[in-house]
Amino acid sequence: MSGPLLDQLLAATSETEHNLRRAASRLNARVQVATDPAWDAFIGRLLPDGHPTWACIHASEGPRPMFVLAALPGLALCASCVLTAAADTDDGYAATTDCDACGRDSTTFHEVMVSIGPVTLVGNMCPRCFGRAKQFHGDPEVTP
Ligand SMILES: [Zn+2]
Ligand SMILES: [Zn+2]
Repeated sequence: MSGPLLDQLLAATSETEHNLRRAASRLNARVQVATDPAWDAFIGRLLPDGHPTWACIHASEGPRPMFVLAALPGLALCASCVLTAAADTDDGYAATTDCDACGRDSTTFHEVMVSIGPVTLVGNMCPRCFGRAKQFHGDPEVTP
């Protein structure tokens, strides 16, 4: 891959990272490298085939930041379509009371996001998984 398409992909990835850091800053949350197995389980649930298998029509217009909601595994949506989809699910991002990492039922959740290139996965972790996942393994957070 080279030329304009690669430039668009890199720009979309850069925008995704920027948005993640901005969201973390607003929520007083932390950005970290996702290395704990709890993250692998989370990613595996949202992307069962290892990559999005469906995408909204806007994906065909070129690389851009995309989102996958836990309520809609495998479906990549642009920033505009993801808002519509989130509003259409029963209570926003949380469609069930199951943890998106371990699958166990829980009454409290931590909303989490994982970016892979230009794709951001959005879901919930139970306190147990989140407690494991937030353990620091990667590079230190860079202040946005
Ligand atoms: Zn779209
Ligand atoms: Zn869990």
